[in-house]
Amino acid sequence: MEDLNEQMIKTQLIPRGISDKRVLDAIRKVKRHLFVTKAFQDTAYFDHPLPIGEGQTISQPYMVAWMTELLNLKGTEKVLEIGTGSGYQTAVLSELAKHVFTIERIETLSINAQKILNDLNYKNISFKIGDGTEGWQNEAPFDRILITAGSPVVPAPLLKQLSEGGKLLIPLGERFAQNLTMVEKKDGKMTTKELGACVFVPLIGRHAV
Ligand code: SAM
Repeated sequence: MEDLNEQMIKTQLIPRGISDKRVLDAIRKVKRHLFVTKAFQDTAYFDHPLPIGEGQTISQPYMVAWMTELLNLKGTEKVLEIGTGSGYQTAVLSELAKHVFTIERIETLSINAQKILNDLNYKNISFKIGDGTEGWQNEAPFDRILITAGSPVVPAPLLKQLSEGGKLLIPLGERFAQNLTMVEKKDGKMTTKELGACVFVPLIGRHAV
């Protein structure tokens, strides 16, 4: 599996432009096959998303790497992740940030991810089961917010919970055609930049419609 991870980095990530050494090292360290069921372990490092149960997916390796690189984490940040899913992206973020707060609406997925990440001894992750479009008010503001499900709008509470100078990344658009979009808050104002096409499972919640 070690070889497959390295091969994934060399054939899928570096040629597509992932160059931040810290991001590549985090991906090198987090073993993706530990986050999928036995039936999918052999294909865990392939160039596509995989099912994780409950109709949800672990994102394609490149997508995880690209989103992580775009967040430009230095190690001091408080990160909010919406959509814990398998916990793989959470682990990559926790290698690079100070603390990760992650919310998942499907209880079985969150419990499974919590078990894997606790077994791997991650100490800088807090979990919540519920509607992530509400954010995590008690812990706000966040320096980075990553939404790993597609939505037609940016949930308003998440914009409020973004710190000054913070970055929020979201697949924005229709069910099968979204654009990975970066929102930045500067001097209290939001700027928005579309970065490229993507397709994610839907963000389901009160502030996603
Ligand atoms: N990052 C995950 C990983 O590495 O496995 C993949 C996330 S998957 C593409 C999107 C996840 O968002 C699903 O697990 C889904 O249940 C969750 N989700 C959708 N709407 C949500 C909401 N309102 N709050 C929290 N989680 C949500």
